[in-house]
Amino acid sequence: MAELVQRYLDQICAEHSGLHDGELAGYIPELATVNPDGFGLTLSASDGYVYESGDTAVEFTIQSISKPFTYALAIDQIGEAAVDARIGVEPSGEAFNEISVDNVTKTPKNPMINAGAIAAVSLVPGADPDERFARIHDFYSACAGRRLDIDQDVYTSEKSTGNRNRAIAYMLTSFGVLQGDPDEVLDVYFRQCSIKVTSTDLARMATTLARGGFNPVTGQRVTDAPVVRRTLSVMVTCGMYEAAGDWVSAVGMPAKSGVGGGIAAVLPGQLGIGVYSPRLDAKGHSVRGVQVCRSLSARLGLHFLTVSRESSSALRAVYDSGPGIRVYEIQGDLLFTGAEQVLRTASRDCQDFDVAILEATGVDEIDDAARAMLTGMRASLAGAGKETYLVDPDGRVVSTDRGGDYDGTVFRTLDEAISAARQLI
Ligand code: GLU
Repeated sequence: MAELVQRYLDQICAEHSGLHDGELAGYIPELATVNPDGFGLTLSASDGYVYESGDTAVEFTIQSISKPFTYALAIDQIGEAAVDARIGVEPSGEAFNEISVDNVTKTPKNPMINAGAIAAVSLVPGADPDERFARIHDFYSACAGRRLDIDQDVYTSEKSTGNRNRAIAYMLTSFGVLQGDPDEVLDVYFRQCSIKVTSTDLARMATTLARGGFNPVTGQRVTDAPVVRRTLSVMVTCGMYEAAGDWVSAVGMPAKSGVGGGIAAVLPGQLGIGVYSPRLDAKGHSVRGVQVCRSLSARLGLHFLTVSRESSSALRAVYDSGPGIRVYEIQGDLLFTGAEQVLRTASRDCQDFDVAILEATGVDEIDDAARAMLTGMRASLAGAGKETYLVDPDGRVVSTDRGGDYDGTVFRTLDEAISAARQLI
């Protein structure tokens, strides 16, 4: 299996190795000095296992791929409402370096363009620029699972030429979006853009997002799922700037590109991808990186809106175990839709049995909505004069300490539940 995936990756890299379109990002002089042919592709599974192809050890600067991570950190630290008061979530359809704010709110339209990203830096708590940068640096490193370094040459190069970003920061100050000294905020922004990563670091950082803020390699919870949900949302709508619509249609993964040549893409719950190839298109995206992501998505079926799962997959089996006893075996990761389907099936058929046994041994993860539906099944079938027994040895549905208010009987095995049901009938 591992070789199969590796072969896919190698093949996709080989197919795109002849693509030399695009230009290095010359507007930051130091970025024009890199090897234009560098090409690395890394795919990280949700457990952190990585597949690497090409120049996956070559370091390059993270540039705008830093933006979703600083945005996540700002939300993590000061909360969504405080961040929303300063940065919108609407796609701007504009270039990454547009000097603009929303006409009505006078705040940056979203955190993925430079204006929103500079505002996000200012929202990360810190007594001075060093402390603020240290927080950001620690956060990125925790997402990558290793201590990342900064490229001093790129930092100096961008700092000495970044007048457009200076214009943006001073504009934001005039609208009251930035507090304090705009040059200090910019200094932190230039530093964060100059952090060095490899395609493997990007894949790992993407996987930390794919796992809802949990780094599967280090075992560290870096941030919480709601923070990640918001971050991925803006990556979907704004991460690829004015190419966001095309990207979502063709690739279908929340993603962010950077003018250093990197792209990080996230398939929520499943995997993270990092690509490096520094020749850029006119919108600032890696030409080869975009093509590789398109191919990967198409070949491996990674589009996040692919409707693949049958809703019936929550129910593994339904059968009778003697007269009046019906067993519903449920499995996998249960969300609202899966639990709703179990409940509706049991309610529809309830004239056929006296006792329903909900066999939940095969449940892996279950969210609160699904849990509420399943624990409510007993009360809803009781209205029709039916009993419900639950087989839940691992406490997935009803925690073993009975923290909730479930008043039904929970069995450790299906056999115990069936014999209890026989006695009842
Ligand atoms: N540091 C770059 C800038 O602010 C980031 C742009 C990008 O990667 O899209 O211009």
